Amino acid sequence: MAYPKIRESVKMTPYLNLVISEIQSYLPAGTVVTSAFRTKEDQVRIIVNYARKENFKFSKENIELGDKQEWGKALKHLRSLKDKNGKKKYHIANPGTSKHQTGIALDLIHSIEGVKGLKKIRNAFHKARADKKIKIKTDIIEIKQKCYHVEVETVRLEFEPLEITAK
Ligand SMILES: [Zn+2]
Repeated sequence: MAYPKIRESVKMTPYLNLVISEIQSYLPAGTVVTSAFRTKEDQVRIIVNYARKENFKFSKENIELGDKQEWGKALKHLRSLKDKNGKKKYHIANPGTSKHQTGIALDLIHSIEGVKGLKKIRNAFHKARADKKIKIKTDIIEIKQKCYHVEVETVRLEFEPLEITAK
């Protein structure tokens, strides 16, 4: 299968691979998984990267999980930012609370149609849900982060009945 493509940096888990295998026939061409499993350290790195993009100044170069003062302030700043419609610019979880850390969340983008394609990806997940391939805990199209975030709670597993043969 050509799609979905999985970005090289993305950490997949057996569970998320199973989710992908359940939904890949629904996904439109152009679907790319940009984030899957993330550690607390990954989450801090994401906060730091977004903050730097917003010209937030840290007091040192390397910000780690233990530097709560630093990333905490940056997170507060990012959450205070509004877009031109007055809506929150970022939805970023605290390190330790993101569903990406529990391994049930995926972020996907549409590499061909961009934000417009995100609806197609969402529709694909909803179709798979309607077909009882997956259950969706929650999902959101993140306009600013230009991705579709979905939390898949359980997947229906199709087990081939085992043929037990006496030797
Ligand atoms: Zn996400």
